[in-house]
Parts: sequence; C-alpha cells; structure tokens
Amino acid sequence: MNILVINAGSSSLKYQLLNPETGELLAKGLCERIGIDGKFTYKPQAAGKQVLDAVDVAMPTHSEAIQAVLDALVDKDNGVIGSMKEIDAVGHRVVHGGEAFNQSVLITDEVLKAIEDCIPLAPLHNPANLTGIRACQSVMPGVPMVGVFDTAFHQTMPAKAYMYALPYEYYEADKVRRYGFHGTSHKYVAGRAAAMLGKKPEELKLISCHLGNGSSVTAVDGGKSVDTSMGFTPLAGLPMGTRAGDLDAGILKYLMNKYSLNIDEMLNILNKKSGVQGVSGVSSDFRDLENAFKGGNDRAGLAVDMFNYGVKKLIGAYAAAMGGVDAIIFTAGVGENSASQRMAIASGLEFMGVKMDEAANNVRGKEAVISAADSQVKVLLIPTNEELMIAMDTAAIVKG
Ligand code: AMP
Repeated sequence: MNILVINAGSSSLKYQLLNPETGELLAKGLCERIGIDGKFTYKPQAAGKQVLDAVDVAMPTHSEAIQAVLDALVDKDNGVIGSMKEIDAVGHRVVHGGEAFNQSVLITDEVLKAIEDCIPLAPLHNPANLTGIRACQSVMPGVPMVGVFDTAFHQTMPAKAYMYALPYEYYEADKVRRYGFHGTSHKYVAGRAAAMLGKKPEELKLISCHLGNGSSVTAVDGGKSVDTSMGFTPLAGLPMGTRAGDLDAGILKYLMNKYSLNIDEMLNILNKKSGVQGVSGVSSDFRDLENAFKGGNDRAGLAVDMFNYGVKKLIGAYAAAMGGVDAIIFTAGVGENSASQRMAIASGLEFMGVKMDEAANNVRGKEAVISAADSQVKVLLIPTNEELMIAMDTAAIVKG
C-alpha cells in the first residue's frame, strides 16, 4: 500500500510517498514558489534514480504542482511507482480542526465545509491546506483523501485543561479555548514509546517533549492527550525560536502604549522577534546559541537556560497533573539532537524518579532509552515522523 502525504502551504507544498505498513519512504520532495516561478525538488529514495533539486517547473497553481509530483513519481526512468494506480490514498496535513475533529477523517464535501469553518482559528494555514486538498481532488479524481489535523489528538483534554479563565461566552460563542498543536507528532512518539516499553498505550503516563523551532509539551495519559502547552494558537507555552510563549497579557498594553505599537505590530514582535532569538539577539537556532555561549555570549546561554527551565517546569506540572509519569519523551530538532539540552532538562528531576545515563544520552536521531537502567521513569529519545503518522492514519481510514 502506498500513501501520498501532502503538506500544503500558501506557495509551497511538501510531499512524501510512503508505505505505511513497512514504514518505507519511496520518495519525497518539495514544490516551492507556486504561483511565482515554480521550483521543484524530487528525492527518490531508490539508488540510481536522479534527484531534482529546485529545478524550474511552471506551477501557476497548486494543481500544476501536484501534477509535477505525480509526473515525477511515475516517470519511467526516475519514478518509484509504475502508475498513479499504485497510490492508494492521499493524506493531507490540516493545521486546525477546531472542536469538529477529534481524529483523522475521510474528506467529503461536509468535511471540507467544516475545515473552512475553522479558517478563523488558523487564517494562514487552513486556506492553504484546503487549496492543497482541492488541487489533489482535481488532479486525482476518485482517489480517497484523508485529513489529518494537528489539533485532533488534543481533543481528549478535559475542560479544566482547555478552558481559559475568561468570560464563558468567549468559549461558547467564539470558540476561544486551548486547542494545542503538534498533535500528529505527539501521537506518533507516544505510540512508539509504548512499543519501545512493550506496554499498551492505556497502561502508560507519558510526557512528550516536542522541542524544535516550535515547541510543545504534552501530557499523555492512557494514550490520550490530557494537557498541552500550546493554546488557542501556537504562540503559547514555551519560549520558542522566535515566539515568546506564555507571558503576562498586561505587558502588551504597557509596550503598545510606550512604543505606539498597534496590535499587529505587537503580535509580529511576539511571533517573529521574541523567543530565544529575542533574548539572545543572536539566532533562533539552538546550535548557533550553543556556539555563541561557548564563545562567551551570556545572553545566548540565558536564552537556552530559559527554554530548558520552561521544559523542566512543564514536566513537573504534567507529572503532577497525571499523578505520576512512566516515561518522558524527547523529539524534534532539539529533542533529537541536543544531548546537552536533554541533560539540562532532565537533571535535577531525581526526586521524581528520573535518572539520566550520560553515556546513553550521547546519541542523536535514533530511538534510544537515555535514562539509567535503575531510573524509575524512563527517558526516551524518539525521532518524530509526522508524515508516517499521517500515512498510517490515512491507511487505517481507507481500509475502513
Ligand atoms: P525542528 O523545528 O524540529 O526542525 O527543529 C529545529 C531546531 O532544532 C533548530 O533550532 C535547530 O537548531 C535545532 N537543532 C538541530 N540540530 C541540533 C543540534 N545538534 N543541537 C541543538 N539543536 C539542534
């Protein structure tokens, strides 16, 4: 079985062709500058096939982009499948499913309408995701399409975790609540953690730390998300590459008055100029911060310290929320690669049964147990694979 996974942005489209049963990746790539001067990248995974790297392909709309993907996949010399018939279904990443979707779904006209209804919640992302779905439907008529939502996994949170302490009508009338994001990633690593520990998901209390350019931590109790650090938007929770994370809303008025900022300018600062970039003044990239700190830049060290401390506090909070924790998972760019940050986050948690193994932690990018053999709480490194999770969900749905 082969599933085409599509992640459509407003002028770009990432794709992967995967076998969800074996986990094998057949090809992946990227269409960029759609509607501008189309650049097409194609990376077949089989040996001896030609890679295309940002070559010129006319893509006035997403439909031509999808057609270029299909042409490359079935190309008689460099393709990876014989014909389009070998694509069983398409899985689409959709950012926001609001309260309408608590799991992945087969896309129907009703589902498209519900995704449209969520546009006010994700005005930048959902329209692009819809464009990608419609382009696929036009180029691949009759092929089943599945929507996989970043928010769906978190729909199991109890009201006490997702409500904001605002007047209740803002929830009822305006849907203002915590939704959470990175759900596909948290779901994938939670499933892998259960497999690594040889347990059923229902038996486990997990804390999943997705630490990348965007970061979120999720409490997963019995296979279900019960709390997560991102909120109504992905601006909430931890300080991130350039996002501020949680802050006192009173700061907004103070700064807006003092510097004559309007709300869009203020939000631009919170989204694009804050986080570890804003604190350090150096970079949003944690590798640059580590190097800058080694070179004597204390603000770079402070930014990383603030981030690690934020993750540590969430681990403590979510262990308390669940009444314990069996395993802590590190994933995404920082979680998979930075041994020093994993150590900084998980050290000092011996009081709650977490004991790291320094040698085991000296690893990157592959599944590993990085806690000591006698650690009561296991600490796991699990590379995330959102595309595989989308392909797995898509396959499960089309198989019925
Ligand atoms: P992601 O958003 O998951 O792609 O993660 C991107 C982040 O991972 C960037 O901030 C990178 O600096 C960070 N990252 C990647 N490799 C390393 C590494 N070896 N050490 C620290 N951070 C890393």
